[in-house]
Amino acid sequence: MPVGMPPLGGPVGRSRMRLSASGLVSWERCSRQWFHRTKQGLSGPINPEMILGIIVEDALVSLLMEDPGDRALDAKPCWIEWQDDYSKPNDGGGEEPESLQDIEQYLLARIPACAAKVIELGAKKWKEAPFRSPERDWSEKSQDYVEALLLAGIELQLEEVEKCHAAGGGPHLSKWRENGDPHFVRAPRWCEEPRFPIPEKVPGNSLKLAAIKISEETQSKDESEITWFEAWKIARPWVKDPRVWQPQRLYHPDGWAAGELDMLLRWQGKATVVDIKSGDGSSGWSTGLASQLQFYQWLYLRTRTEESLISEVEGIEGWYLGSKDRHEIDIWSAEELIQKDEELHSIWQAMTNADGDKETWPEANPSAWKGESVEETCKRCHARFICDFVSEELSQEGLIAILPPRMKELSRQQVQEKLQAREPASPISVIPNRVNVEGRISGKWGPMSNHFGEPVHGAVLSTGAKSSVVVEEMAPGTFLELKDLADGNWLIKNAAPGVWRNSSRIYLDSRSSLVKSGEEDVEVTRIGLLPTRANVDGLVVSRRTAKGIRIDGKPWTMMTCHLWDGNHTIEVVVFGWGVTETFADITVGDRVLLTGAELGWRAGLPQLRISPRNSRIEVRSRDWQPMDELPDSIQ
Ligand code: SF4
Repeated sequence: MPVGMPPLGGPVGRSRMRLSASGLVSWERCSRQWFHRTKQGLSGPINPEMILGIIVEDALVSLLMEDPGDRALDAKPCWIEWQDDYSKPNDGGGEEPESLQDIEQYLLARIPACAAKVIELGAKKWKEAPFRSPERDWSEKSQDYVEALLLAGIELQLEEVEKCHAAGGGPHLSKWRENGDPHFVRAPRWCEEPRFPIPEKVPGNSLKLAAIKISEETQSKDESEITWFEAWKIARPWVKDPRVWQPQRLYHPDGWAAGELDMLLRWQGKATVVDIKSGDGSSGWSTGLASQLQFYQWLYLRTRTEESLISEVEGIEGWYLGSKDRHEIDIWSAEELIQKDEELHSIWQAMTNADGDKETWPEANPSAWKGESVEETCKRCHARFICDFVSEELSQEGLIAILPPRMKELSRQQVQEKLQAREPASPISVIPNRVNVEGRISGKWGPMSNHFGEPVHGAVLSTGAKSSVVVEEMAPGTFLELKDLADGNWLIKNAAPGVWRNSSRIYLDSRSSLVKSGEEDVEVTRIGLLPTRANVDGLVVSRRTAKGIRIDGKPWTMMTCHLWDGNHTIEVVVFGWGVTETFADITVGDRVLLTGAELGWRAGLPQLRISPRNSRIEVRSRDWQPMDELPDSIQ
């Protein structure tokens, strides 16, 4: 099936601990770039194409979820109706299509409204994005342009319908005629309820949704010639259902890799994995298409189960809507797939081992983009301002891109001098990192839910009746040693100190270890003296807002920024309930003083969290206004 249950990992964003297709592509482009972008989360400015790609994909798959003839030709597209006010959008009034032209006509009639919606949604997203390419604007994208992209996607799918019709419906025609879509996870359609990977977490829903009743829409059990409408339904790919807020991903059985396909064609009895691209394949970004799709091929095959109707992949394709092109990529052979098991696992291990200690960072090894030089790769890299691999000139160019106008004329050294931490802040490098702690470990070793909603293991470390602290894995599966632990006094080395809901915590990962008390002579930090907070003064060099819906249907918001003190960067995060106007207004180029931030950890790296009660954030200088003119809410 093209989706699975998350074995580990929570609802807030994608886990930074699993290998994904985009992570792999970024790793192959430059492992150090992957570290800054994916592991540290230091992202560059957003451009209109990034927004467009996501919404156009939603619009296209929504058109593929339509059943031509279900409604009148001039009725609203179901995608629009669902967004405006979803009530099972099936008001009848149409006629079943008798030809490919009928199907095409039905879909084309819906394109203008969908394109207008893409432009409307994109404009909103662009306006809300906190870090945009300064020289770009959403107005570059027109409705005509979006209509052409959607038309290209429809025509590529109609080619599949034609092939399916010519092949007499493929090997599953009789199953279709008996009971409808025979796949365990059916291709989503507007006229059917959405299927959630974890239905028991959907409010007002029940498990029966997982075993959706198969409708008897194709009553015919005869051997008659396939109709065009049947060919449309059989050729319809599995797509990511826009109504499903839970992750629709495939998870490697061992939990270390995951990926979310865009589309999966299955009518031929074997799978073809498709990735939808809104560009024309000429940009440097398309260099990673082969790795991305081959990774999906590998992941799809590694996640087959007995329930899977299809266990072979026969093709992997990128559909470039900008040029209406199918880019067919060679699939990995059986031998290559076996080699990749080990190779991908070792990449994941190298990713996991990279943490806050620079010694562990992966090497800077930029590769050339399509037809361009290696230098071009670095020129596009937001992290070039802190990269010690690139020329001084390129690094300075990167620095200028993030500096506010008042500082753009300064040399790197002058910038570093200006950014020296002012009272009461300390340099980022002295934020408490690892400690050794000692005590009796008791309590059940997990499972518990961390603040990202991920299932981790935890226990309690105590040194007396009144002195105890929760010990937990930094991320799911990162420290399994405690599982078989008998009670007793233990020394935990290289633990990461932090705080959650006003109480100290100890986080453990692969760098942490356990020895019996007294076996080693190392400096031990007393539980009552664990460092849990930090004050930081730095320049905002990255800014992001992420919104989504948790597995249980509740909305979440997370805002992040990265502060740079001239030498080091650190991520600052605030969750929905703690977001203030001040934080929401922070932008790249602001100089910010953060006091009382709570120390936390994400994928082996320290992270500062804003607590509404204990943290204070001040914008110390903003480029376009002297500080004394700033409104109180920002000062
Ligand atoms: S600037 Fe170049 S070498 Fe440095 S991280 Fe970025 S891509 Fe890699």
